[in-house]
Amino acid sequence: MPISKRRDPPAEEETAAAEEASRAAAPPVGRLAPSPTGAQHLGNARTYLLAWLAARQAGGKLILRIEDIDSPRVKEGARGQAIEDLAWLGLDWDEGPDRGGAQGPYIQTERSDLYAAALQRLIEAGRAYPCVCTRKDIAEAASAPHVTHEAPVYPGTCAGWQGGDALPAAGTFCWRFRTRARLRRFVDLVSGEHVLAVGPSLGDFPLTHKRGTCSYQLAVVCDDLAMGVTQVVRGDDLISSTFRQLELIDALAGQRPQYAHVPLVCGKDGRRLAKRHGDTRLAFFRDAGVPPERIIGWAAWSSGLCSRWQEVSAAELLGRLDFATLRRHPARVDETIEQRLLEGI
Ligand SMILES: [Zn+2]
Repeated sequence: MPISKRRDPPAEEETAAAEEASRAAAPPVGRLAPSPTGAQHLGNARTYLLAWLAARQAGGKLILRIEDIDSPRVKEGARGQAIEDLAWLGLDWDEGPDRGGAQGPYIQTERSDLYAAALQRLIEAGRAYPCVCTRKDIAEAASAPHVTHEAPVYPGTCAGWQGGDALPAAGTFCWRFRTRARLRRFVDLVSGEHVLAVGPSLGDFPLTHKRGTCSYQLAVVCDDLAMGVTQVVRGDDLISSTFRQLELIDALAGQRPQYAHVPLVCGKDGRRLAKRHGDTRLAFFRDAGVPPERIIGWAAWSSGLCSRWQEVSAAELLGRLDFATLRRHPARVDETIEQRLLEGI
């Protein structure tokens, strides 16, 4: 993806930059947002630790939110398991499904009214249109061959629809967001400035699925805005999602949070940690009697927060996180690391 870096920010982004700077002064509101589509693993643990430290060491607040909107892939029992795993690591939060709070409910599938209202606003503002294309249609119509892991850019087949035109039959279309062609910029706390021409690079993207449920992008933006989230710490595989979410935040006249995209954890083949790399579930290590401090210690050492791997609690790391000096390359988990996790450092 052509995400480039440049020196001079485009003028229209200056307000957003000033806004970011002023919000940086207040204690952050962060979030831990596990997706119960599978068990939480070592990579998730590392990202959650960094998100937790970023909020807590700045005197900020944390919200736990369950991102289960991608419902066909949600695993039974995984929601409770995610909460248990986070608590076992020694992380805590101020609001969440287990303890309530003013911004609840904290489970996305219970927040669909909020998403429907946002969608309605976007439709009324002319920023959404119904799209009946199938995945195959889009792949065939896309003019340029796509070179990234991303889906091909939507060619705009259905973009001529205007408010007042008839809607296709229910169940045969999704709502798609009209992106704008301008350059968009954001400054990441870890990797600095990113600039992308969102329209040509990412295209118009879905706000709903054909079955009617809300897309991940719209749900996340609605939740972050409604919950007052000002700081988002997550894996750097989501940088292109951030550009889509910034489009939505602007269209909904919301305030953008600060972003810190942290490097992912990979297996020894250099690919993002997954099932093929063996059992890296937190529950596996917990059941094997591994103390959480050993996992936290690995996460801190592999992120550059500690010069060596030692058993340490999350609370003992408060004050150690500095995004400017965070290790930039992905952490690698191989047999040696697994053995040290299981048998002792
Ligand atoms: Zn279409």
